[in-house]
Amino acid sequence: MSDEERDEESGGEEEEVPQVVADLAQASVPTQLKGIRSCKRCGILKTLDQFMNEGCENCPFLDMIDNQDQCNSCTTAFFEGQVAIMDPRESWAAKWIRADNYLPGVYAISVIGNFDKEMEDDLESRGIRWRCRPPT
Ligand SMILES: [Zn+2]
Repeated sequence: MSDEERDEESGGEEEEVPQVVADLAQASVPTQLKGIRSCKRCGILKTLDQFMNEGCENCPFLDMIDNQDQCNSCTTAFFEGQVAIMDPRESWAAKWIRADNYLPGVYAISVIGNFDKEMEDDLESRGIRWRCRPPT
């Protein structure tokens, strides 16, 4: 495939990227490490801006796009650990954190918090499980 090693951190503007990298680039990964938040339902890690712009690809029913209130209540800055999952179905880490049905991305190992009661009831009534847990 690629015959040269590229430093992906260098962040060139209009570099041509090999297809495999372009494919991986479809995975939503955090664009910066500051201000990272975790989706309370699936645990994917992104910036608030990303949640605002794209919502959560695993949880479209959370309606976060362009909705700052919803972004704030459905994501949290409190999480522990992170693991990059490129192939959720094949990844033991994905199974371990029960993310094997989710899309590739970077996930929190544990998500701390809870949805408000209304949201919990709504998710529960739809048979949707979520990953966040109240602090112990
Ligand atoms: Zn989510």
